Amino acid sequence: MNAAERLASSYEALCAHTRETALLQSVQALLEWDDRTQLPTAAGPYRAEQAACLAGMVHRRQTAPEVGGWLDELAASPLVEDPHSDAGTVVRRLRREYEKKRRLPPTLVEQLARLSARGQQVWAAARKASDFGQFLPVLAETVDLKRQEAAALGFATTPYDPLLDDYEPGTATTEVAAVLDSLVASLRPLLQAILASDRGPDGRLLARRYALDAQREFGMAAARAIGFDFSAGRLDVTDHPFCTTLGPRDVRLTTRYREDDFGDAFFSILHEAGHGLYEQGLPAASFGLPLSLATSLGIHESQSRLWENQIGRSRSFWEGLFPAARAAFPEALRGVEFAAFYRDVNRVAPSLIRVDADEITYNLHIGIRFELERALLEDDLQPADLPAAWNAKYDAYLGVVPPDDAQGVLQDVHWSAGLFGYFPTYALGNLYAAQFYAQAAEDLGDLEGQVRRGEFQPLLQWLRSRIHAHGSRYEARELVERVTGRPLSERPWIEQMTRKYADVYRLD
Ligand code: ZN
Repeated sequence: MNAAERLASSYEALCAHTRETALLQSVQALLEWDDRTQLPTAAGPYRAEQAACLAGMVHRRQTAPEVGGWLDELAASPLVEDPHSDAGTVVRRLRREYEKKRRLPPTLVEQLARLSARGQQVWAAARKASDFGQFLPVLAETVDLKRQEAAALGFATTPYDPLLDDYEPGTATTEVAAVLDSLVASLRPLLQAILASDRGPDGRLLARRYALDAQREFGMAAARAIGFDFSAGRLDVTDHPFCTTLGPRDVRLTTRYREDDFGDAFFSILHEAGHGLYEQGLPAASFGLPLSLATSLGIHESQSRLWENQIGRSRSFWEGLFPAARAAFPEALRGVEFAAFYRDVNRVAPSLIRVDADEITYNLHIGIRFELERALLEDDLQPADLPAAWNAKYDAYLGVVPPDDAQGVLQDVHWSAGLFGYFPTYALGNLYAAQFYAQAAEDLGDLEGQVRRGEFQPLLQWLRSRIHAHGSRYEARELVERVTGRPLSERPWIEQMTRKYADVYRLD
């Protein structure tokens, strides 16, 4: 074998090893899906053993010395000269994962895994009792371990950087802070103007009685209409909606139904179908390699938000769909005018709970969490002072004060599970979505007309070719620049929201 042949065979071996690890990871995903949709309560403990066993196998394979050997051999080879080539992408992504995992001491990894499992249990009990004091020791320990993790991974400016990098690779905390700070600054006067209007919708039309079967049919029809392929996917019921991929042709969506809340199921189906369309558009031939993985959580969220909000809450979407909605829900929508329904779909109301937030206030919920978790990690805020800091920010940003910890600082599972650096990806998703949407509208010409006529293929093909097909070839910041010609900015989102809500709330 000459040198080139040896490199090619190392690359093949690395890919084969990685694809086999992906088989195990897809089994992990299947167990997790089952856990959240089907699993009988009593089956929990054995499932936890299955999950721990698989997690150990996956971790050993990802950090195996031969992986390091192949990566070293390939590092300076002509195969990876172009970082955006297939081999360049595979090696770059695997090296990042390998180095991060190898830098963490096994004892710290174990401590974090155990604390995450225990933390979620303690958090659930504390939330039920609405007692932050019960959660405080676990939170303090988690912050301490996450700081140790950041130190082991290494950072130049803030311990937040290496943690954010797990979810938004290649994006720095300072970049996120700059864009979210501007976002919050522009958002607050817009929210003030909306709240000052006495001509806004009250949202009551969506709280009428919507038959559950009809909701399911209507939601599935909408997911199918925007392009979700149900021959390679399913929709099931869960408590907290999610989307997961179990194989190259197996994407699972989940939702929940409430008779007196049309929006809860419908918009979560559109949201999860948006995630599902991204997954179905990733290059299936490369399944198991980083090439067929989403490039970041923020980009993933942009795909769900674009279909949920830019499309699903738009006037043109409902102009097209409203007759079908009236046919599907003849009782609930009897005598209801299209315009009233559209305005109710876009009601804005500051609230305490992030997951129930409207399109406008949602980003403020995220801004608050981003500021607080950074302060915790940077030691500018002590865990014991978190509830007071939380309540002060809710008062300042949203004008609401939680009456108790359950509706305040204890509402999200993330921190109890050790997920620091995750929250900003939700807001980044909203901003990427708006920037992509603006570009698509420019490129496609009559996007609103297409949406009104129920022609979603042009937009889907646009997303497929510019975003989905690339998998993780480009990092989020590169992808945004390639697709839109400019770096991420909050401006497109602010412009779209200002225009839309001036109409919905009849602002002058
Ligand atoms: Zn999502």
